[in-house]
Amino acid sequence: MKEIAAIRHRATLQEDLSGRLAALTRRKRLRSLEPRAGSDFASNDYLGLATSPELGQAARDAIARGVPVGAGASRLLRGTHSEHDLLEQEAAAFFGAEAALYFAGGFIANAAIFATLPQRGDLIVHDELIHASAHDGMRLSKAEAVAARHNDAQAVEDAIRAWRAHGGTGRPWIAVESLYSMDGDIAPLDDLMVIADRHDGVMVIDEAHATGVFGPSGRGLGAHLEGRSNVVSLHTCGKALGVAGGIVCGPRIVRDYLVNRCRPLIYATAPSPLTAAVVRAALTVCATDTQRRAALRSRIVRAGTLFAELTGRPATGTQILPVVIGRDEAALAVAASLMANGFDVRAIRPPTVPEGTARLRICLTLNVDDHTTNAMFAALHEALGDALP
Ligand code: PMP
Repeated sequence: MKEIAAIRHRATLQEDLSGRLAALTRRKRLRSLEPRAGSDFASNDYLGLATSPELGQAARDAIARGVPVGAGASRLLRGTHSEHDLLEQEAAAFFGAEAALYFAGGFIANAAIFATLPQRGDLIVHDELIHASAHDGMRLSKAEAVAARHNDAQAVEDAIRAWRAHGGTGRPWIAVESLYSMDGDIAPLDDLMVIADRHDGVMVIDEAHATGVFGPSGRGLGAHLEGRSNVVSLHTCGKALGVAGGIVCGPRIVRDYLVNRCRPLIYATAPSPLTAAVVRAALTVCATDTQRRAALRSRIVRAGTLFAELTGRPATGTQILPVVIGRDEAALAVAASLMANGFDVRAIRPPTVPEGTARLRICLTLNVDDHTTNAMFAALHEALGDALP
């Protein structure tokens, strides 16, 4: 009888979840999926490749030569298609790594790196602003994880030294984004590499927002570090490359280990071969079309000047320009006003960014022209009023 009474008092799933959503609504944190509208200042399609004739043609060509839409099985069973092999060979050659492994998404690829490679007894020192995908991978890892202050190489070294002083005997892993997704700033990769070398550690560089935009031929900000025996990098394919997926680059032994031990690779259907074929084309565009990158880079310079004038804050020097406003409601109101004027600028709220730092995340892409960019900044000036702290 007692049990039945307890069951009666337990909230139903509907009550439980709607209560949680109501709490998010009260805190102005409720999210919903909105259709795309207005000029693109919100996507990561930095080079405008997602809708490009080149990639559309690559998809048609791949279909015409019989590339299947679905892989049908795990990579370890019947799922490996020649398009996966070719993409991985070409990606390794392009990025300058010994080997590459293609996953269906950047998120799962990044989580897989951290869940699989660091071992019990190791230490992962990660930047405090590292992406959610790294956090989820670290949660699955048996290694200890500790945050270091954003872009503070000394804090990373201090964490490693403190761990060693307390008897840490494993391997340190340093986890960073080369270009931070919500702040648009750049990691001190060379300083961190020296620290990794000094402590017999490994660098894991998430190039998600730099691939295709920075580095020689768009190979990323850590291009000069690729090929080293203690560097693993992630190049996502759904942002500047305009398609989907994530390519893990690193020493061949790392690839072999992932093939044997990485659960999201072993127990999942392989990525679409058709998508792999289009990513191959995206890498070719990246390697050969210098014009798109040059156009984006000059947009970054011009828009950066406007941004600095308007906000009184230095521009990031990258295609990601955050306007930190602070309060969630204020950031939402400015974004709504820009949306009403036809500019797709999104407010980013905690927990994606730290408490009290709700912001607009302005992305520069080749999907809009300079005239529209100038008009957006004029509207932003108007909408901001005295919203800036
Ligand atoms: N890393 C970073 C830094 C990202 O910003 C993202 C995407 N938001 C990912 C990884 C995940 O990549 P994908 O979108 O390809 O899953």
